[in-house]
Amino acid sequence: MVRGLVTFHRILSGCESGSVEAWKAFLEEYSPVALELCRVYFPSPASLRMELWRVAVARLRERDCEELRKLDHQGEREFLAGLRALLLLLGGERLPSSAAAADGLAPSVEAVQALLKDQLLVHQQILFLKLAGYSNGTLEKILMVSPRVAKDALERLRAGYPAALGQREDRCLWPGAWNALLHRVQSSRSDHCPSLRQFVRMLDGQATWYDKTPIEQHMGQCLHCLERWTALREVVFWRREAPRLPAEDVETLLAELSFARPHKKRKPFLNLLFGE
Ligand SMILES: [Zn+2]
Repeated sequence: MVRGLVTFHRILSGCESGSVEAWKAFLEEYSPVALELCRVYFPSPASLRMELWRVAVARLRERDCEELRKLDHQGEREFLAGLRALLLLLGGERLPSSAAAADGLAPSVEAVQALLKDQLLVHQQILFLKLAGYSNGTLEKILMVSPRVAKDALERLRAGYPAALGQREDRCLWPGAWNALLHRVQSSRSDHCPSLRQFVRMLDGQATWYDKTPIEQHMGQCLHCLERWTALREVVFWRREAPRLPAEDVETLLAELSFARPHKKRKPFLNLLFGE
């Protein structure tokens, strides 16, 4: 754990000082979690996830790592939550219009709030991640609790969102509409919302009953915080479980993102011949 923290800080500071080795470590460590998140939220076409990750890394690097420096540097999990938000933002801008086909069936913010109302907090988390597109198997690993505990709550999905109930793969059913919903929810922070650090402390079991109870009560009423909490659980899960990228894929990414003037298009061969 300590080694992980040290590595995380060293990677970020290395990237910010322009070290190619640090960027290589960054790609090795964070490509897996980023690609899995993109796969869930932007399932189609399959090429989109890698394209998004390349765009995201290029964005993090430009203007002397301005975007990278803006992300939380306190701890890796806070950083990954910020990285997830960046991927969702960039992905939302690049969703193909064909992805909107199923969006009409997606729940609105108000519909989600109505579904979650008066449910136990653990059931709310299960319902929210089911609507996001997670299968029961993955959901159980993310939340460390079987979705079966929320059987009655999940039955509430049957009427309006039966497809979400029967998910076998982890993929968002309505990428455009869910992305828009997440942006709306993410931007609805109030003065009463706890900090992400408080959520991390709670996740680590460091929060006392006195600290935890009001936070949990708040989360049960605040979709913004429920989203941040489930996002944290997601990034922790994918950081742990996402398969590592083969070394040659890391090298390809590094070359593509290069480190050799990424934005400049190569001149066609004829232009070069004629000295244009
Ligand atoms: Zn809140």
